[in-house]
Amino acid sequence: MSDLSDKSRQYYDLLNLYGDYVRTGFRTSHAAAVLKKPDDTAARRGGLEKLGEEVRACTLCNLCHNRLKAVPGEGVLDPLVMVVGEAPGADEDESGRPFVGAAGQYLDKWLQAVHVSRRTNGYIANVVKCRPPQNRDPRPEETAACLPYLKRQVELLRPGFILAVGRVAAQVLLREERGIGALRGGTYRFQDVPLVPTYHPSAVLRDQSLRAKVWDDLKRLKSLFDHA
Ligand code: URA
Ligand code: SF4
Repeated sequence: MSDLSDKSRQYYDLLNLYGDYVRTGFRTSHAAAVLKKPDDTAARRGGLEKLGEEVRACTLCNLCHNRLKAVPGEGVLDPLVMVVGEAPGADEDESGRPFVGAAGQYLDKWLQAVHVSRRTNGYIANVVKCRPPQNRDPRPEETAACLPYLKRQVELLRPGFILAVGRVAAQVLLREERGIGALRGGTYRFQDVPLVPTYHPSAVLRDQSLRAKVWDDLKRLKSLFDHA
């Protein structure tokens, strides 16, 4: 191109740059960067791992003294539904896994009915991560000490929806004093995530007359995510 005039060379360079611009797909990658959020799944997975370690070593409240194993939670990242229960029971305290006893097996059936599972598209956690002695209700100072873990879990997991099971979970997450019978039936928000409260599976195992209401709540939850 030695015979090109300065002016032509300028145009030539300009066109060459334009060619690079087109060939390297600058525009497409630029568009993708604008449209897609950066892939931070590895960082969030790491964050959850670290949170689990912190919970297992935690001594922020008195429940640390009697626990066998703390129970951080289990399930997938970006779950369609995150279930929040009250606290680990005896089976969970022994295994370190949430909702694995009778209530947990029943909960898994509820979830199955709306095509959610902790293996594929759900996550299960509790308001407090350590078992209260004799399964008593967690005390306000215990839920207050533990709540930051749940808040971080919601930030890291980014659930589509939250299903709060039982009075304690509903009251703590919604900062409400009304009972679960009054709170259920509505849709609320926790950290901007739509939240549906319902009865606790243990309560429904004791009182079968609650089943129809739970089914209504699950159907409402499903219609929320089907239309999202
Ligand atoms: N009940 C709960 O609230 N959570 C569990 O993990 C088990 C039973
Ligand atoms: Fe820590 Fe929560 Fe366990 Fe209390 S219940 S010791 S705050 S992890």
